[in-house]
Amino acid sequence: MYTYWDKSAETIPEEELKRRQLAGFQAAVDQALKTPFYRERLRKAGITSGADVGSLTSVQDIPFTSKDDLRDAYPYGMLAVPLEEVVRLHASSGTTGTPTVIYQSAEDIGVWPDLAARSIAATGAAKKDVFQNMMTYGLFTGGLGLHYGAERLGCLVIPAGSGNTKRQFKLMKDFRTTMVHATPSYLLHLHSKMNEEGVRIEDLSLKKAFVGAEPHSENIRKKIENLLRVDVYNSYGLSEMNGPGVAFECECKDGMHVWEDAFLLEVIDPDTLKAVPDGEEGELVFTTLRRKATPLLRYRTRDLSRIYPGPCSCGRTHRRIERIKGRTDDMLIINGVNVFPSQIEEVIMKMPEIGNNYQILVEKAGALDRITVKTEVGPAIFSDDARDMNHLRERIKDNLKASISISPAVELHEPGVLPVYEGKAKRVFDVRAGE
Ligand code: AMP
Ligand code: ZN
Repeated sequence: MYTYWDKSAETIPEEELKRRQLAGFQAAVDQALKTPFYRERLRKAGITSGADVGSLTSVQDIPFTSKDDLRDAYPYGMLAVPLEEVVRLHASSGTTGTPTVIYQSAEDIGVWPDLAARSIAATGAAKKDVFQNMMTYGLFTGGLGLHYGAERLGCLVIPAGSGNTKRQFKLMKDFRTTMVHATPSYLLHLHSKMNEEGVRIEDLSLKKAFVGAEPHSENIRKKIENLLRVDVYNSYGLSEMNGPGVAFECECKDGMHVWEDAFLLEVIDPDTLKAVPDGEEGELVFTTLRRKATPLLRYRTRDLSRIYPGPCSCGRTHRRIERIKGRTDDMLIINGVNVFPSQIEEVIMKMPEIGNNYQILVEKAGALDRITVKTEVGPAIFSDDARDMNHLRERIKDNLKASISISPAVELHEPGVLPVYEGKAKRVFDVRAGE
């Protein structure tokens, strides 16, 4: 027997779902028109009211929204309600130091946990489960997103946050944690520490793990399932669409159901920007159907996936997407943290000691990702004095940590050591095999 959180919404007949989507879409357009950004955008497209979009296919008359648009509108350009109606904000990295921000009204913050509760319940989880949330709490949505979803479902929630494996194990043992939420790399890391910490699988009560925030393969899922003896479910979300609770695997583990009564999904060819037929790979584009404070129309996620044709055996009518295959842009996800190479460049190139050439190496160090920034130092600066060079390395690290929350290894080189390219420079070497 499959379990549901809100059965009538999750198994809603297709025609009824479409009617709801159209009403949500028109309301989203009306809501978007309250923001300075969309008022101008939509006026240019000849849209002055939600009534101007008569059908779901007319979504194609609406211009796309990008991460850059969100950044340009920072901080208030996409806010659709009076500021006093906003009860929370979350922020994510942009292509430069300016983040993107999403506001939630009291009503929005009521919808999100509902979608998250639905997601968790779809894996067969219930009130009796003990949920240890190992995702980062804070501006990143991974922590709070599923936290409130699990609370709404009635689970005992342990807001452990990320890191500190010793404490994670203690909490898991002492409170008999049955479900965890983490990045796939963190779970593998956790497993690699079990021996050292003297923890055996039999000491734990783990049954399920929700993994997301970074791309991973089916093999990684199987590996975690075998090593930790748990059922692993893929969780997809992005801060622009709230965070976790956009698409989630059900017990069938055959694609992630997108909660289509909250998000209007399109899959487009990233080059022609035209819709691709169901089943073909393309970029996911979402429109928020229920969010009041920050409505987003046709948001280009840059994530590549495809829609699974046909119904799922669980009875949910919301369509499924395949696990994310990759991204169309150069955004790196380092242990769950989004980083654009341009952000690293901006930080290091601000420092007068740094020369012109740099490289970014991303590799696996055990289960975790490791990033190394290699940079040349100006000729007058490079010295044999190890103390000077160490000091500079630390300053580069501190600056990167402060502005984009990553702590890379830093290598300093003499001018002329790093390769020079005649054509487009290749600066990023991501050698984490797809596994
Ligand atoms: P953020 O806005 O910081 O939550 O980052 C969202 C991005 O993380 C998405 O656009 C994806 O690129 C990536 N992401 C989130 N969940 C998954 C997942 N389950 N599989 C692959 N990538 C994911
Ligand atoms: Zn299903």
